[in-house]
Amino acid sequence: MKLISISNLTKNYHTKTKEIEAIDNISFDINDNEIVSIIGPSGCGKSTILNILTNIDKPSSGSIEKKDNLKIGYMMQNDCLLPWLTVFENATLGLKLKSIKNKENIDYVNSLLEKYGLKEFANEYPRNLSGGMRQRLALIRTLAIKPDILFLDEPFSKLDYTTRLSISDDVFKIIRELNISAILITHDIKEALMLSDRIIVLSKRPAIIKDIITLEYNDTLPSEKERTNNYEEITNSIWELINK
Ligand code: ADP
Ligand code: MG
Repeated sequence: MKLISISNLTKNYHTKTKEIEAIDNISFDINDNEIVSIIGPSGCGKSTILNILTNIDKPSSGSIEKKDNLKIGYMMQNDCLLPWLTVFENATLGLKLKSIKNKENIDYVNSLLEKYGLKEFANEYPRNLSGGMRQRLALIRTLAIKPDILFLDEPFSKLDYTTRLSISDDVFKIIRELNISAILITHDIKEALMLSDRIIVLSKRPAIIKDIITLEYNDTLPSEKERTNNYEEITNSIWELINK
């Protein structure tokens, strides 16, 4: 079933001095139970697509259809943790904003904090967490509202390589266990290959779709794929596609 359908999406920004064409006539769908990566060079319009899908930004033209009552969990490019709130308060912020901070949802957040090793830090502040822990906390906050689809904007880009792999595994497991969908934005081709079921390849700005690559659906963890696959050839061909 389709969760999101984007048709002929175009976005231009008007600044004082010039007009920036960010997105040029993009169309694609997102179905249930699939992880779709969007890859493309820095500044090509990837974050803009998620901002338009979450109504933070408006399209210049085109249409967007979403399944009725679709709940989107958006983890933005910067982790957006509030430094003056504790780990627990950050984790439950979305619940508070939506006025659904009830016992059931709080229990769920506590179980996620426990599962991802943050329970004992519940009363600490974000500054006392490592990069990986901050990222886990941002993810828990996003999951707290029980979304149907996760929007993950370069969630691993600031992490070191090992932390990145272990969090990729966690994220992949969560998405599969909850049977939800995700849009993962990345500029790392290998990350897209390890984590997704489909890859949308964008060009330099203004972004057009260069290709949509469908991978074999599987439940193999990213770290396992990293160990066993040689992605060199496909990585090179995608690289050429993006940069040509
Ligand atoms: P990406 O996420 O692919 O790195 P973005 O979607 O953030 O790229 O931005 C795409 C282009 O649009 C960039 O050139 C950026 O400078 C420009 N842009 C993004 N937001 C705005 C804005 N609010 N006003 C003007 N230009 C913007
Ligand atoms: Mg971005």
